[in-house]
Amino acid sequence: MPRPADHDDWRIAVQPGATVLSRSRREVVSYDLEGRVGSWFLDGTVYKRSLASEVVARRSEASPTPAAARGPRHRWAVPADEADALFRRAAVLADAAEGAVDAVPAAARDALRARLHEARAWSPERLQGERDRFAAAYAPIPILPPDQYGAVVLQATFGCSWNRCTFCSFYQDRPFQVRPPESFAAHVDAVRALLGRAADARRGVFLADGNALVLANARLRPILDAARAAFPDRPFAGFVDVFGGERKGVDDWRELRALGLQRVAIGVETGHDPLLGWLNKPGSADEAAAFVADLKRAGVRVAVILMVGVGGARFAEAHVAGTAALLARLALDAGDVVYLSPFVVHPGSGYAERAAADGVAPLDPEEIAAQYRVLRTAARGAAPRTPVARYDIDEFVY
Ligand code: SF4
Repeated sequence: MPRPADHDDWRIAVQPGATVLSRSRREVVSYDLEGRVGSWFLDGTVYKRSLASEVVARRSEASPTPAAARGPRHRWAVPADEADALFRRAAVLADAAEGAVDAVPAAARDALRARLHEARAWSPERLQGERDRFAAAYAPIPILPPDQYGAVVLQATFGCSWNRCTFCSFYQDRPFQVRPPESFAAHVDAVRALLGRAADARRGVFLADGNALVLANARLRPILDAARAAFPDRPFAGFVDVFGGERKGVDDWRELRALGLQRVAIGVETGHDPLLGWLNKPGSADEAAAFVADLKRAGVRVAVILMVGVGGARFAEAHVAGTAALLARLALDAGDVVYLSPFVVHPGSGYAERAAADGVAPLDPEEIAAQYRVLRTAARGAAPRTPVARYDIDEFVY
């Protein structure tokens, strides 16, 4: 690991939701409001610590051509001994920053001193102990939509009520279960204790797991009330699939909107029905279009998730055509988002086996990149005011 800088050039920011310390351009470290280190930029690599104190690193290679925004991106789990070294380094930096308090305006100095005091108290051993606190508060969280990485996640249900899509193994380790009210209340308390003051920086509440919003409104009401009591003034969001969401009418969604539901993330995946069937996911393009229209009528924003490259070469042409046609029917606007998610085979899913049995050859990286560009163009053409963003499912850190 590189040594700390020889020459200090301090930059310090006391932000409402974080403290950011940097004493050279090659190193920027951010701490949450409890003083726990959250992220590092160190010599071109970005590290992030999850609430369970797992550390992931990401580094982009130099752009291969002047036209490309960035080169290939690498992501890896940081081994525990390296994570410890990073934790120690963050505490040392907070210690050293005591001598640079004058780098911030006078009005912020007392707040900075208090925050540095907190940050210095997080030894590597104490940070590693967050793993146990996380495990006491949460079942593993395998996925979130990108706009919810900074939300408070509350697990109102476990698993997925369908759990049979061939490409998905996120919830294979747990049957679908609704959390009883007492258990949910205890979970909310545990999450609040785990986050501490850092909850102030989390702007929304995400109702997990896979499709908590499939519950009838009568069951969701007390869940939303308890969540709002613990984390007030935050919008709600959650995953929902077309087949589950359709069970509610517009008035049901309107009621949830009034209770604070702002956006739902819908795993639409494709607009080509035979591909959806091949993936063993219920629903259809018509049903997706009708469901999104209901949500829009109810004032609920949508994040439409589409997979890029799924179904390989056999489905590529029809997947693109069907998905572009579906996008053109969705009437998305500025509050919505389209996520294009490059397909990766989940370990443990049945996709690879099914593809091999049916002779469905995967697309190569260039073909996936080309399909991504075509779908991005289609999304932008269909909904010029709607952001279109890449969704790399393995980039999630909570
Ligand atoms: S993709 Fe969605 S509906 Fe399908 S198994 Fe996974 S969580 Fe359930």
